[in-house]
Amino acid sequence: MTRTVYVNGDYLPEDEAKVSVFDRGFLFADAVYEVTSVLGGKLIDFDGHATRLARSLSELDMPNPIAKEDLLEVHRELVRANGIEDGLIYLQITRGAADRDFAFPEDPKPTIVLFTQSKPGLADNPMASTGMKVISIEDQRWGRRDIKTVQLLYPSMGKMMAKAAGAHDAWMVEDGEVTEGTSNNAYIVKNGRIITRHLGHEILHGITRKAVLRFAREAQMEVEERPFTIEEAQEADEAFITSASSFVMPVVEIDGKAIGTGKPGRTVARLREIYLDESRKTAV
Ligand code: PMP
Repeated sequence: MTRTVYVNGDYLPEDEAKVSVFDRGFLFADAVYEVTSVLGGKLIDFDGHATRLARSLSELDMPNPIAKEDLLEVHRELVRANGIEDGLIYLQITRGAADRDFAFPEDPKPTIVLFTQSKPGLADNPMASTGMKVISIEDQRWGRRDIKTVQLLYPSMGKMMAKAAGAHDAWMVEDGEVTEGTSNNAYIVKNGRIITRHLGHEILHGITRKAVLRFAREAQMEVEERPFTIEEAQEADEAFITSASSFVMPVVEIDGKAIGTGKPGRTVARLREIYLDESRKTAV
């Protein structure tokens, strides 16, 4: 089936959707993005993603080409047009096409693109019961990882390094401390306490992270926002990641060493259940 995608105000068949070769997203990675999950035909935490999008744009001095209500309508229309029950909506905004120059154009005309990815059974990923294996790699990304830009080459390379090592993903390490996964936030659990790196320029401020930490605190679980090392993670009782596409996913091995029992633990299973239940309730 040909997907219907959204480009600058138009809904088009995917093979008719085009962006200029002069687009700054293409030439300079001068672009930001968001990925919102869809469960049961409804958007999970749309508000969180729209708020982070506005912040990313503002940090880069890029005009926001679309109002929040209109953005919600585009998301909903794409879900409808593509018959998405479970899946993802990808959104990208670039500074638009301009003659190639490092300086930002004075009167930018942003490009906005959205498309869907159908993922039937997104919330029933069997990995939730088997767990993931991760390796550690040096974090070689730029210094403003809190802005959700499309500079994803190093995370892409990290996934390939993980694949080559027979693992599912990589956790990145800077100055001896874990920053985050290639496309997710990283956590450990020790003596019932959930530990994850504090917010700053070093990591993306995950929308799923925010919700999961809130639900954890509401459920009287202890949360500590501070850096941890790979060695501490290997000695933890449980480990996990969060992201809009994986929700809460257990990690059972780091650099070949089993975490806890080597099987997904109860804290992670509980957090995943709470997150999915609560997010479905407020889905739009
Ligand atoms: N960190 C990085 C580097 C990511 O790419 C992502 C997902 N895009 C996340 C964390 C998780 O963020 P979210 O929960 O908003 O999907």
